[in-house]
Amino acid sequence: MLAQIGEEHYQKLHEILRLCRTNLKNYDESLITRAFFMCYRAHEGEKRASGEPFFFHPVEVAKLLVTELPLDGVSVAAALLHDVIEDSGYTYEDIAAELGTEVADIVEGLTKISEIMVNRETTEAEGFRKMLLSMVKDIRVILIKFCDRLHNMRTLDSLPDHRRLRMALETRDIYAPLAHRFGLGKMKVDLENLALKYIDPEMYEYLLKRVRLSRNERIAYLNKMIVPITNDLEKQGFKVEVQGRAKHLYSIYNKMRLKNKEFEDIHDLYGIRVVIDTDKLSDCFAVYGYITQKYPPIPQHFKDYISIPKHNGYQSLHSAIIGPQGYVIELQIRTRRMHEFAELGVAAHWRYKEKISKDDAAVDSFLKWARELIKDADSAAAFMEGFKLNLYHDEIYVFTPKGDMKILPAGATPIDFAYAIHTEIGNGCIGAKVNGKIVRLTAELKSGDRVEVITSKNQKPKADWLKIVVTHRAKLKIRSAINEERRLEIEKGRGIWDKMLSGTKKLFTANDAIRSVRKSSIKTPADLFSALANQQISSEEVMESVTNPQKAADIQDKSHSSAITQDFAEIARQAQERPSEQKDEVVISGLSNIAYAYAKCCNPVPGDDIIGFVTTEGSVKIHRTNCVNVSNENLLKSERIVSVAWNRKLETEFLAGIRIVGEDKIGITNQITGVISKFDTNIRSISLNAKDGIFIGTLMIFVKNTAKLTTLMDKLRKVQGVFTVERMSS
Ligand code: MN
Repeated sequence: MLAQIGEEHYQKLHEILRLCRTNLKNYDESLITRAFFMCYRAHEGEKRASGEPFFFHPVEVAKLLVTELPLDGVSVAAALLHDVIEDSGYTYEDIAAELGTEVADIVEGLTKISEIMVNRETTEAEGFRKMLLSMVKDIRVILIKFCDRLHNMRTLDSLPDHRRLRMALETRDIYAPLAHRFGLGKMKVDLENLALKYIDPEMYEYLLKRVRLSRNERIAYLNKMIVPITNDLEKQGFKVEVQGRAKHLYSIYNKMRLKNKEFEDIHDLYGIRVVIDTDKLSDCFAVYGYITQKYPPIPQHFKDYISIPKHNGYQSLHSAIIGPQGYVIELQIRTRRMHEFAELGVAAHWRYKEKISKDDAAVDSFLKWARELIKDADSAAAFMEGFKLNLYHDEIYVFTPKGDMKILPAGATPIDFAYAIHTEIGNGCIGAKVNGKIVRLTAELKSGDRVEVITSKNQKPKADWLKIVVTHRAKLKIRSAINEERRLEIEKGRGIWDKMLSGTKKLFTANDAIRSVRKSSIKTPADLFSALANQQISSEEVMESVTNPQKAADIQDKSHSSAITQDFAEIARQAQERPSEQKDEVVISGLSNIAYAYAKCCNPVPGDDIIGFVTTEGSVKIHRTNCVNVSNENLLKSERIVSVAWNRKLETEFLAGIRIVGEDKIGITNQITGVISKFDTNIRSISLNAKDGIFIGTLMIFVKNTAKLTTLMDKLRKVQGVFTVERMSS
């Protein structure tokens, strides 16, 4: 293996191990070595945009991690392999087999982040940050990600312009604020400065020049303060390190931009930081007292982040003092521990881990440590939140096609998502595309998914949906839509019932009808009305069962169809023009062999609600119930009105409409027409329209009875890609 890899590449392993020896306490050298070789093999032959071997990148990321955020051996191994699953043929299992599941889990976490961030416009930075946290189960994943990003930003020059800017914006808006949140002060500053370099190159160059020009001057000036301050404090018995510092470019830039100032107007470019080797917080205040005896403070600038830490846990005493020649100098005073925390944030924990507890899980002991550090309960709680990463695992972060983010509970489906957008969208939801692919309504959404809801105005919420959805909102809306639907249905059914009774002497009640109909689904008058409305039962069947129980039983054996709705009355009218056999097409008052004729005024077709009017010649004229000539209130109450029903036993062909909704994919229309043509039906018309990956087909066919219709519909449902097949109704 040594021979294969080449001395100059093998050297990289030694660089890493050397750094580990200086920076890490406990680590497994063989684990890192194995990770190194796997990394080398996986990326062998790959080149970076700069032309150098790709594997230099993971090596540099690992080295950055050991120097910038020294954690442990496992994270070094994971850093070496962070791009392996994404770029090579290696899988989670390969890594787990070679290096254990701990390393493999971290690598998998990093791979997921890369996948999510690809081709994303990061317009909602706050949401993206939360989403990243929601996906990260192990803090080490995000810490390695920072190093990966830092190295990418440092080598950004070799990428094309548009990718540079994109990456720089993402760094500024997502990674730098996250680094801040994790308390990684140094990482944040590095990322922000590099981002500025590519976002506003001219300004960056300008600031760099200005700061560089003043550098020697600054060092000389600050030394005039650093030396006496150090001596004074040591005389007082403090062990201190006094550092001169300059404001970082990005924060100068921000100050100039936000406060609309020129470079010359920024006065706190210089600063002095006093780090005290002590565990006593009060020492910080004592030191402040000694320094301000010599250099007058500017009281408005005093900030006590020791008593009240920042939300990310940052602690320090901040002030501004007047230095020689009247310059304003920023002053920071902190203990060594606070300092390490300010620079390394959560990573600093690994340094103190062993002092706290040996057995606790890493995160738990960190929390304990952080609690000690942060006395203020409120900010401590806010701070902890970021590290109890599993808190976010109850939630998923998904996106609309426009990039708006929706936060949903884990397990949410496209229907939940649709209702989260708008009630109407939820009610009309017939399907969804997730990341461009059609999915079922039962599909479980994942963090980072881009979801596009497909709606139809003919869709109605289904009771089944209640079993699919997880959000309270969706459940509520579905229930209320179903209730409203039923209310309307009952109202409509009551209307049918009233009309039906208008031709009789009202000798029976709804409860009488329920008893004679003997259907298990019809228990209450409301059930009866809704059955009438949705054509589960026809008014003539109800009449039959009440007036003629024997005959009713026959009818119930036969499937009933009331095929035609007003939706396609026009086509139906044409259909009626076909020669009809001289058999009774209607049953009048439950009797047959009565002379009848269709009224020319309203031209009823089978399926229309109809009513009979006894003429002076003793025959019956059949009108549609809503015909103006019979709809007169008084006329309807007249003795000359008789109830009329279409004769179900007659094998007249009825026109029925079917709506098919499915995925618009190649060959599906052929499959559908294939199914229909094999079926012995008379097709009247067929239209298939596709939109947004969904097709909606409307099929008008002549069928003899609903049994046949049901069989055809079942066959259509079995076609791959078909979502719903429904009977059309007005
Ligand atoms: Mn990488």
